[in-house]
Amino acid sequence: MKFTVAIDGPAAAGKGTISKAVAAHFGFAHLDTGLLYRAVGAKVLAGGDPVAVAQALDPRDLQGDRLRTPAVAQAASEVAVIEGVRAALVDFQRKFAARDGGAVLDGRDIGTVICPDAEVKLFVTASAECRAERRYQELREKGMDVTQDGVLADVKERDTRDSTRAAAPLKPAADAVLIDTSGMTIEAAVARAVAVVEGVKAR
Ligand code: C5P
Repeated sequence: MKFTVAIDGPAAAGKGTISKAVAAHFGFAHLDTGLLYRAVGAKVLAGGDPVAVAQALDPRDLQGDRLRTPAVAQAASEVAVIEGVRAALVDFQRKFAARDGGAVLDGRDIGTVICPDAEVKLFVTASAECRAERRYQELREKGMDVTQDGVLADVKERDTRDSTRAAAPLKPAADAVLIDTSGMTIEAAVARAVAVVEGVKAR
């Protein structure tokens, strides 16, 4: 059985947590597509050519906390504007989405470009300040030396680049359900997402 849940939204809106929880609740596989761009970004920081690196990407390249640094996040959003990089990553994502047993993919263009026929589309967002505060706490817990202002500036810079680029810009699909997590607990946001999926499955 194919059943795809597409979850898009800006950086640190809660997509990752919601996606993992939805996947666990329904027994679906989960792909954090940001990791693909982060893995390409990390290899480009190490001197690789963006398109060549994307074409040769291996699932093993997606492992590890080294992809979770602010420098890699910025590099990811820089390589993500390149058409050839995006094109090289499409097949892997579509195959993952079509797997038997259901799949959750989270990213920026899943509902609009990668899986326009997804059974469920969610657009998860929150204010920039709220997202920067969450990302700041997350990075501090990992022992990273970051400031609140620095994280807010990074988040805003990535938002602008992600939503204004020509190739697959960040935007909600016309048929996406919007979840604004600004004033919400993570439990409430997960419950809302699970309820939307339940509603579609029950049809
Ligand atoms: O989601 P995450 O913050 O890990 O994504 C890192 C960067 O990868 C984003 O800022 C965005 O530029 C890019 N990305 C994308 N399309 C996706 C997922 C991520 O362009 N589907």
